[in-house]
Amino acid sequence: MLAMGMAERKPGVHDFGLPKPRVQRSGQVLVWVKEVGLDGTYLGIVSHGWLNIAEGYNEIVLGHEKAGVVRAVGTGVTKLVAGDTVTITAWQGCGICQPCLHNRSDMCKTVLFIERGTHKKDGFLTQFVVGREQYMVKVPVG
Ligand SMILES: [Zn+2]
Repeated sequence: MLAMGMAERKPGVHDFGLPKPRVQRSGQVLVWVKEVGLDGTYLGIVSHGWLNIAEGYNEIVLGHEKAGVVRAVGTGVTKLVAGDTVTITAWQGCGICQPCLHNRSDMCKTVLFIERGTHKKDGFLTQFVVGREQYMVKVPVG
């Protein structure tokens, strides 16, 4: 599967291959990416090399605004079904502090949050992504 992102010690944006993700845990949803937005955040990231790649990885997929279509859901997913159009929040909580426990990871007190596509976890500039249902918002269509 094709992805676009940045790599450690390699300036600029590159394409690279990734295995197609699969639903592997309860509460996960597989989404076919249809649209990705790139905003001014990436001007700094790309031109200044502000990478924040997760430990143990050499690259990060860019893109933190997206829309896509649900292709598969795991056990425990209660609000989404295949065919739903969704967006995925880029900010995802640490699971420890009070703001994150109340879905306000933008106010994270531990700094252990992730921001998909910019901070510690792959973004959405690729063909398929897997995420947790709690970070997905169903988009009305039509
Ligand atoms: Zn937190």
